[in-house]
Parts: sequence; C-alpha cells; structure tokens
Amino acid sequence: MEGDGVEARVTYEGSANIILVNSGLRDADDDDPDGFALCMECNRWLTSDQIESHTDEDDSECYANASEEAIKRDIELFSEGQHDTVTLTSPLPADIEPQRAEEFDRTLKETVYQGILVAFDLEEEEIDTFVKPATGEHGQVTIVFYETSEGGAGVLHSLMDEARFRQVARETQTVLHGDPDDEGCERACYECLMSFYNQSEHELFDRALVETWLESMETAALTEIASENHEGGDFDELLEACDSNFERTVLHVIRDEGFTLPDEAQHVIYDGDEPVAKPDFFYDRAGTAVAVFVDGPAHEKDYVKEDDERKRSRLKRMGYRVISVTDESQVPKIWETI
Ligand SMILES: [Zn+2]
Ligand SMILES: [Zn+2]
Repeated sequence: MEGDGVEARVTYEGSANIILVNSGLRDADDDDPDGFALCMECNRWLTSDQIESHTDEDDSECYANASEEAIKRDIELFSEGQHDTVTLTSPLPADIEPQRAEEFDRTLKETVYQGILVAFDLEEEEIDTFVKPATGEHGQVTIVFYETSEGGAGVLHSLMDEARFRQVARETQTVLHGDPDDEGCERACYECLMSFYNQSEHELFDRALVETWLESMETAALTEIASENHEGGDFDELLEACDSNFERTVLHVIRDEGFTLPDEAQHVIYDGDEPVAKPDFFYDRAGTAVAVFVDGPAHEKDYVKEDDERKRSRLKRMGYRVISVTDESQVPKIWETI
C-alpha cells in the first residue's frame, strides 16, 4: 500500500493460526498477576518464576543462552485458535527519529485499532490487537488485528478494500481530535487513544507521531502483492527439490494425510543480502512464515547441532516460526498447527 512517501504492507489472512496474547491488565484477577514471559531467543513461554533459571549466566535453561533483555515480560497467554487476521507492517516514516520507533509503533497500533472499531461499529471485545516482530526485517514490527471469535464475522476482510481502508484512516483522524473545533490533547488522552485496557502503553502514545502517516493513508492505494495462496506447491516439483530420502518420506506423509503442501522446498532465507538459512520446507504465510527443518541423522553431530541452533534462533528473531521434524510420525500433530 502506498501513500505519499509512505509504503506500508497490509495483509489479510483468513483463519490464521495465532497464539492470542495480551498484556496483563485485561484479566486483573488472574491467579498469576505477572502473566507469562516469552523468551525471544528460543520462543519458549515462561512463568515469572522460571525467568531466573532460564537466564542464569552459568547454567542457563535456554538453549540459546538468552540474556535478561531477551525476555519479554507480562504477556498473558490466552489460547491458540483460528482467527481472521489483518496485519500491518510499516517502516518508520523518515521524519521520525529511530529512538522513537516503539512510540510510533504503539501509537499507530492503537490509532488504527480505534479507527477500525469506529469504522465498523465494533466493540473492543470483538477485535483485538498486538505487536510482534516483523518476519524477516530486523527491528521492524508487524501490527496484528484479529477477530476474537473463531470464524468471526469477516469484517477484517473488508479492510482489504481500498475505500474501506481509507475510511478507517479518516475515522482515525477524527478519533485523534481531527475535527476543526476539537482542541485536542498534548500526546494522548482517554478521549482518543488511552483506555483502561492499554494502561501499560499510555506513556508510549503520542498522537503527533502518526499524523503524517495517517494523512498519506487517506489517499493510499492498495496494491495487491500476491493473492493469498494456501494451495501449497506442486508435489512433483517439491519432491524433485528434496535433498534426502527422509525429506521425501515426510513430504509423502504431508500429502497422504491431506495437509497443505509446502510452498517451497530448499528455500533460502536472506537477512538483507546475507543468506541466513535454507529450511527444507517453507510456508509463505502472511502472518508468520514457517520454516521447516527435516532433521536427518547428520543433524545429530554436535557441531552440526550448534550451527543449526544458531541459524534457527536467528530465524526466530527475524520473526519466522521454526519447526524441526525428526520423525515422520510427528507430521500430523505438527501440521495441524500450520
Ligand atoms: Zn530461551
Ligand atoms: Zn487525546
């Protein structure tokens, strides 16, 4: 999607498999007031009392030896399910200083969220939103909006309509005190962006940060990059690209069990110009792309293992979902989640 000088990416995914997360406050009387923490290095969920041993300098329980900084705290884990989802990934506008990136991202998230609620006349219970690292781009984030009920009403899908998207952009400006006789607030207030639910983010909100972005979106054009393709790749071509008999066996099981075939085999993932890893199978999902490693006996050697883990934790940091298959009997259980 391109407006004046801003290029952002908007994607829609019907029934995306997402883990619902929320930042603590929504369930104030939960038994574990600190919620969960997520290790960004190894992608493991931790309870608050596991953090210390997970980041112990001498005897870490984290295979990636994560430091304290890698632990994202106060996340509340709800459930995993299939939800209609729209994601928004936008580079930081040129006029905003890099150290204010987090303020920009959080403000943009809340602004577009409020715009969606107004434009579609929805309650906060019907749509929720969170920020996650963007797939493949260091430091960038993807804003996720999802319908909270599984198989929801499908309103998010209509966001992919240009007129609808522009309408949301206009509504957001009204939310942000855009009416001529609205005196507005300094950075954010309970009339615009703040709510009881987003208290932990209040100090990050500054509506001035997103004004230019929103203005350019009013005239934005949606360009379809690639239509969502959940058909998967061609079986014979994938088979041809396989490196080992074990990969071929796994591919057969994926097909025979009726799961969607990978989009590609032996797909090289780059970070900028630098090749990072070549997963055996690859699913090009808009929300979170999936890299599948089919680990045969060669992967059991220690030096290979170390190299594998280094590459894989880097992929995770880049926002990919990383899956390792060591036995074809694991396929049904794992593929249900892809
Ligand atoms: Zn870890
Ligand atoms: Zn305000």
